Amino acid sequence: MSELMSAAWELDAEDPLAGVRERFLLDDTVYLDGNSLGALPAHVPGRVEDVVRRQWGELRIRSWEESGWWTAPERIGDRIAPLVGAAPGQIVVGDSTSVNVFKALVAAVRMAGEGRDEILVDATTFPTDGYIAASAARLTGRTLRPVLPAEVPSALTGRTAAVLLNHVDYRTGRLHDLPGLTAAVHAAGGYAVWDLCHSAGALPVGLDEHGVDLAVGCTYKYLNGGPGAPAYLYVRRGLQGRFDSPLPGWNSHAEPFGMTSAYTPADGAVRGRVGTPDILSLLALEAALDVWDDVPVARVRAKSLALTDFFLRCVEAYVPAGRVENLTPVAHAERASQVALRCADAGEVMRTLIERGVVGDFRAPDVLRFGFTPLYVGFADVERAARVLGQVLGTA
Ligand SMILES: *Cc1c(COP(=O)(O)O)cnc(C)c1O
Repeated sequence: MSELMSAAWELDAEDPLAGVRERFLLDDTVYLDGNSLGALPAHVPGRVEDVVRRQWGELRIRSWEESGWWTAPERIGDRIAPLVGAAPGQIVVGDSTSVNVFKALVAAVRMAGEGRDEILVDATTFPTDGYIAASAARLTGRTLRPVLPAEVPSALTGRTAAVLLNHVDYRTGRLHDLPGLTAAVHAAGGYAVWDLCHSAGALPVGLDEHGVDLAVGCTYKYLNGGPGAPAYLYVRRGLQGRFDSPLPGWNSHAEPFGMTSAYTPADGAVRGRVGTPDILSLLALEAALDVWDDVPVARVRAKSLALTDFFLRCVEAYVPAGRVENLTPVAHAERASQVALRCADAGEVMRTLIERGVVGDFRAPDVLRFGFTPLYVGFADVERAARVLGQVLGTA
């Protein structure tokens, strides 16, 4: 056994999360794409079957009450809350991340008021956030200015209404300074809106602790909610009374069954709802969240850093010099839970890796992306992934 194989064996033997993998349906593939689509928790199919056959099939309309369908968006929001450092009553689940970016950003601009005519957006953002921000700016008559996250503090002025940032750069895996940037936005009198898609479930976020105003995130990546699982919206408690939704559907009404023509918004997180929730996906997500019941996020973070450290060490040992360039920060404070390697012919290389049982993904034009979900990825997986990458690049 090589030195790295025995190191992996020891790290797996000491891993307090090693047993959590059994809660998922996995095979012999090394699955390093949980940052795109989390794996399936083993108990979810049975729960979904019950929702379909019994709740829908037998109880039918009664399930809105009796099976807790109507209140699922807030109830499941409260399940996500501890994973992102939020007290209950501030998160609602529903719609996609893209839609929630729209709600959060327009609401933030409305809170900021007329005098503030500029929106700053992360220049490295996942594209959908940028597209939505551009439309939100047009609708609200503000100017949109793309700024690199590190340059946000110097770009803030008395004109800044809101700043939309990604907590983690989806390409490089760089973790941005949420506490520091939020404080800078507040010092300038603006509102901070964070997209947590690549951080929730991988590392502590501390929404309440750091005074974040609004946040959104998806649930199908590190939260393993399933393909297209609904996203979530966080509105800090102190701002909920001023949250003026740009999509005030009847589910956000104080009395949705009053069926009145006048709109009166509900109090609390419910105000972030729009229309009838996507119950099948929502309840699959609720079941998926059970895997977190006894898993502290701090432990997940510690393992995540150990996994990415070990991957970088194995890549260094196995991959011929000069074949890849690491784009992911080496400093722990700046690294989330993925490693991005720049590589010639990255698309072809990833196809070969997948054929050989190592699943990551390719991001155009030249990036190999490997996501490490600490709940089900182990150190032997990491060693094997780097070894296969070394073989592919050694013979290419
Ligand atoms: C994955 C991701 C999204 C996805 O948005 P959808 O509306 O769910 O398609 C948005 N923003 C970021 C930063 C992401 O990583």
